[in-house]
Amino acid sequence: MIEFSGVEKHYSGTSAVEKLDLTIEDNQFICIIGTSGSGKTTLLRMINRMIEPSAGDIRINGVSTTSLNEDELRRKIGYVIQNIGLFPHMSIRDNVMIVPKLLKWTDSQKNGIAEELIQKVELPLDYLERKPKNLSGGQQQRIGVIRALAANQDIILMDEPFGALDPITREALQEMIKKLQKEMKKTIVFVTHDIEEALKLSDKMIIMDHGKVVQYDTTEVILSQPANEFVEELLGKRKRQNFIGNDIRVGDLMASQVEAVSLSQSIVAAIKQMTDKKVDTLLVVDDERHLKGFIDIKSINQVDKMKTVYEIMETETASVNQNEKVKDVVEPLLSMALKYLPVVDDENHLVGIMTRSSLVSLIYEQLK
Ligand code: ADP
Ligand code: MG
Repeated sequence: MIEFSGVEKHYSGTSAVEKLDLTIEDNQFICIIGTSGSGKTTLLRMINRMIEPSAGDIRINGVSTTSLNEDELRRKIGYVIQNIGLFPHMSIRDNVMIVPKLLKWTDSQKNGIAEELIQKVELPLDYLERKPKNLSGGQQQRIGVIRALAANQDIILMDEPFGALDPITREALQEMIKKLQKEMKKTIVFVTHDIEEALKLSDKMIIMDHGKVVQYDTTEVILSQPANEFVEELLGKRKRQNFIGNDIRVGDLMASQVEAVSLSQSIVAAIKQMTDKKVDTLLVVDDERHLKGFIDIKSINQVDKMKTVYEIMETETASVNQNEKVKDVVEPLLSMALKYLPVVDDENHLVGIMTRSSLVSLIYEQLK
């Protein structure tokens, strides 16, 4: 957790960042977005004290950064700037491992890391011994991304890292960094001036204008309730109400691939299915695929393992008909704890799910 309390930064005459209180939770992808000169870089660099705040305190997991020395800060917090290329005379392995080396990790601490990371970005192990010039441009960029993760800091700061890339390479890297962030449970604070990039990557966005944070919230809330005209303009000048098409139906937007489990399955089999599919809830259906309820891995205890799905499922399941209008289900979806709503047909057959992210994509599509 990163907590800013009363943090500000002034340069003689100008206020780069005005008094700021906010908290960044762990494992979040946070984008700082705003126009040029709005204070994004200053805010980012105060986190690891590359820039000293003029006032206020920043705490990381409760510990003030002023009580940490530079070494301790670098161990906790990684930093990546725009387009810092690979070092041409060093092997890919040495490039990936440069930060652990600078942090003086021992050989045993370093062992296996380069191998593990290069596999995560789907490049062959023997590329580790190559020089950068023997990789394509896109492959080099992927190595740049894993280099940022090699020292295993919990927090990674990135200042417009993909700023100067062509759109296709950029999109591929955005997907990759988002996937790695989730997989490796990192907190990433990422500066961008590109709203498209921010919408794609963020769990939450910090929107800055002239040194002030004008809104800090989830993508969904920012899209549905922009704090002021500046935010609206950033999003494309239109309010959500005006651009969720009147006749888009739930059935048009839902995902029809949906993980479900049968009533008669054993809990052991259901848990295995959840583990295999990396989900923590499963919808429950009968033999004709009528929606009957759901099970949540968090509410399964030891005793339940001997039972069937039918015996322990929750039967109070919110659902939505595929013929309903999307604009009518926005509110329930946003207020729900679940990240999705089951979609049924007129006979209550499970036909799909409507996810929060599908909604975000829709809203975003309409903005283009
Ligand atoms: P951004 O990253 O959003 O483009 P910055 O955080 O770099 O913005 O800058 C915010 C404001 O602070 C700008 O007005 C900039 O001119 C000013 N600023 C940044 N660094 C300095 C500095 N070292 N000295 C004086 N003013 C600065
Ligand atoms: Mg900047």
